Amino acid sequence: MEGYSMYFPCYTIGHGVYEKVGKVCCDYGTSAVIIGGHKALAAAQDKLLQACREGGITVTGILWYGGECAYENVERLAAEQAVQEAKLLFAVGGGKVTDTVKALGEQINKAVFAFPTITSNCAGCTSVSIMYNTDGSFLKPFFITRPPLHTFLDLDIIAAAPARYMWAGMGDTYAKFFEADMSSRGESLSHYVGLGVTISRMCLGPILEYGEQALRDNEAGIASEALENVVLAINVTTALTSILVTKDKIIDYNTGLAHAINYGLTSYPEVEHNHLHGEIVSFGVLVLLLVESQVDPSMREKFDRMLAFSRATGLPTRLEDLGLSAADQDAVIDKALAMPDIDHNPYVITRDMMVQAFEELQKITK
Ligand SMILES: [Zn+2]
Repeated sequence: MEGYSMYFPCYTIGHGVYEKVGKVCCDYGTSAVIIGGHKALAAAQDKLLQACREGGITVTGILWYGGECAYENVERLAAEQAVQEAKLLFAVGGGKVTDTVKALGEQINKAVFAFPTITSNCAGCTSVSIMYNTDGSFLKPFFITRPPLHTFLDLDIIAAAPARYMWAGMGDTYAKFFEADMSSRGESLSHYVGLGVTISRMCLGPILEYGEQALRDNEAGIASEALENVVLAINVTTALTSILVTKDKIIDYNTGLAHAINYGLTSYPEVEHNHLHGEIVSFGVLVLLLVESQVDPSMREKFDRMLAFSRATGLPTRLEDLGLSAADQDAVIDKALAMPDIDHNPYVITRDMMVQAFEELQKITK
């Protein structure tokens, strides 16, 4: 077998984590450019600049990332003097900012450090950038060598961000478990995929245990233990799973039926525009579990548990919650069944199974 390397995330989480920036980063260089989104920079810039001053890191400039994780923005940033002068690239913001800077670091071979200011997904710790066109349409995943060298998860900044990001992020996080569990079932797995599938269990447990409390704390701006556990699940556990199960890039254990349904739903521009990714994916999880229950009735218990969680947290449980109706069901199903995300599963997902699951969900949640 040909040799291979694995690169895993390193992170600091809690209060005052930016104070460690100098110590953590100085082995890689003492000059950094800060690249972020407008809101993220407003939330984190002062704290980060102070940390750089105290940690002996010279800041060569503060740049806006460009509004979209697009190759055009990566190239524009690469030409900036502040980027060329810096040894380190600091990404401050959500997924699109972090993915842009990760792609930039890969292209120009500079060290990337991530400073997530919201907790909607695992971009701060993964080794893939989701690339878009400048008009905001999806382009392709860009797999990069390694995740950011270190990720600074400042709970005070994250707790002060709008709670809807974490709310949606939880849906995308536990989808990782249900999809990996389903697509790998009954298979003999490589070490890393097996590890990833096992770790994915923790994309669900802490969300069920701490999710509701963490949301209340996020709404109140409290950096609590519950919030920390959910931030770890969304950022770290999900990223570890993603890195491990996508290593082969041949079989897709990373996304599955819940994401295929998400793509079916987001073929309606108003759904894409008015709802967050993880929010839509959480609806896909409910359909996934009803499909699973048709094959294995013991899965029904899991469906009941997740429906209760969606209800308790206000995640969507019927098409109307996403601005659609039963009349849109067939189009959503057709689109979902055409997605490659469902190519690798222990059984063939038929149109009849999907129709039955959608109708059942509409009936239960009436
Ligand atoms: Zn997702």
